Amino acid sequence: MPSPSRQEALETLTRGVDVLVVGGGITGAGVALDAASRGYRVGLVERRDFGSGTSSRSTRLVHGGIRYLPQGHLGLVREALRERQLLLRLAPHLVRPLGFLIPLYRGTRRPLGMRLPRWLAPLTHVGVGVGLWTYDLFSRDPRLRHRRLSAQEVQEVLPDLRPEGLQAAFLYWDGQTDDVRLTRAVLSSARALGACTVNYVEVVGFERVGGRIRAVGIVDHLTGRTAEVPVRWVVNATGIWAERVAALAGQTPVRIRHSRGVHLVLRPHAVRASAALVIPETDDSRLAFLIPWEGRFVLGTTDEPYEADLDEPPVTRADAEYLLDHANRYLRSRLRSEDVTAVYAGIRPLVSRPGVSTAALSRDHVVVASESGLVTVTGGKLTTYRRMAEDTVNAIARMDGRPRSCRTHLLHLAGAEGLEEARAELERSPLDPDQRGHLLAGYGGSAREVLALLQESSHLAVRLAPGLPHAAAEVVYACRWQYAVTLADCLYLHTRLAALDGAAADLAAPQVAQLMARELGWTPEEVDRQLHQYRELRAKQDSWRAGTGETREREAGRASAGLSATSPT
Ligand SMILES: Cc1cc2nc3c(=O)[nH]c(=O)nc-3n(C[C@H](O)[C@H](O)[C@H](O)COP(=O)(O)OP(=O)(O)OC[C@H]3O[C@@H](n4cnc5c(N)ncnc54)[C@H](O)[C@@H]3O)c2cc1C
Repeated sequence: MPSPSRQEALETLTRGVDVLVVGGGITGAGVALDAASRGYRVGLVERRDFGSGTSSRSTRLVHGGIRYLPQGHLGLVREALRERQLLLRLAPHLVRPLGFLIPLYRGTRRPLGMRLPRWLAPLTHVGVGVGLWTYDLFSRDPRLRHRRLSAQEVQEVLPDLRPEGLQAAFLYWDGQTDDVRLTRAVLSSARALGACTVNYVEVVGFERVGGRIRAVGIVDHLTGRTAEVPVRWVVNATGIWAERVAALAGQTPVRIRHSRGVHLVLRPHAVRASAALVIPETDDSRLAFLIPWEGRFVLGTTDEPYEADLDEPPVTRADAEYLLDHANRYLRSRLRSEDVTAVYAGIRPLVSRPGVSTAALSRDHVVVASESGLVTVTGGKLTTYRRMAEDTVNAIARMDGRPRSCRTHLLHLAGAEGLEEARAELERSPLDPDQRGHLLAGYGGSAREVLALLQESSHLAVRLAPGLPHAAAEVVYACRWQYAVTLADCLYLHTRLAALDGAAADLAAPQVAQLMARELGWTPEEVDRQLHQYRELRAKQDSWRAGTGETREREAGRASAGLSATSPT
């Protein structure tokens, strides 16, 4: 069913809603879906594009979090594993099981963040085994039980793993997703139940009558117009910005500590691996991951307190060197900065506790409801968004005196239905096999809507970049169905090209801008402005390369030859 236009959604919103959700990341999306499914009239506003905050900058795991076991956060792990199991069922097109290999080497001091006395070091594997057994117990899924691997099996799963000193290795399972696609699927599901969602609209003030918030002031960043939305309840789901938004209402419901995490995306074949690698020990006593993703690898993450610009956290050369160096300690072949095709940094919204490091702060969420009608929900994880939403809407329903029970644990997410039909249609389409696989994995049942665009024009099957499966039709789909309004958003958040391979996205940018111009009625001047804006963003993101000897020209040369997509350099 086609969504209302952005303008229609905005008009509906300004007529008033029961619940206005501020923030279009995974948390806000989850709250919108939950509240709409309980019969509330729901609006959601996002000041940039949906999912543009932390929800597009995660490690993309739907997981219990093995590192929280040694920290003793058993409740969090159990809850997250329960949510993982639900999401594997409710969004099988977006959340898939992935194997993780944990190698344990002689001389490791703090594997997985465990602090063991020296005399217990030879028994590390027993401790890890017990932890994984607990993980299996919590997840109650016989298909996803861990096991210890023989040296031969390690070779088969991860031929590039360094064998010297390897004492034991385990394979366990978790879920993998695309964070921003998951966010969009939750938003689409909320819209299907009547929620009205608008991007590029910022909340700038609250109007109170007798202590209660009665209306919210918004500004539409595409037109500069301001308006008021009459509300009964407001949910502050703005993640790392939650304190700022609460302050607009004169409240300080939570203190948030910000922690920056960086990821590198590596070219195809940079490593030979059919499972993810757990880097079991980092210099700052954590763990990190090297994870297969869309034919590439994602290497991350760092975890450092952060207090600068929340909107565009930087990636530095030191971050890249830290990650490459840690991965290289466990690999036979050496990863280099030239292997990196994209980078991103995100900021975790951690609920503050004095004297505790950001890595040790719990990933639990908090919901703080105030009598003014503002409910703040923050902390938590991508994995637990549904549970966070349930707790938030429960708080509203309680205050409202109209308890209605949550049913999101029964609702399939948009795209989960019609998977087999989509698969069959893709088989009959003129697309290449890699393009079919890409559409099914990214859009699930909704791939049929992308395919329908090919009936309009067969040119829409054309690839956006050499060697990559992304098709022009996805740009049209993003504009018509997912409210894409800027070139940078389309390249980073919708097609995901720039998140995968910056140089390939640079090549595609002019073509994508033309496709968007046709859909959105851009003038030639607007096309130039959009290209300029995108290039500025890319230059900022690529600034970590300064001094590595890798130039953007070399990078672009590789991409235009399709090399980064197909062969090792
Ligand atoms: C490096 C890193 C790795 C992570 N890895 C994982 C992982 O693998 N698995 C996992 O489960 N979790 C992971 N997380 C945690 C997870 O990504 C976050 O918990 C989650 O994305 C937070 O979502 P959110 O919706 O609360 O915040 P956000 O996604 O940041 O959304 C908040 C939104 O509010 C909007 N906003 C702010 N102010 C206003 C305003 N005034 N008006 C309107 N809109 C406004 C912002 O633009 C933003 O889009 C990771 C986090 C980081 C940083």
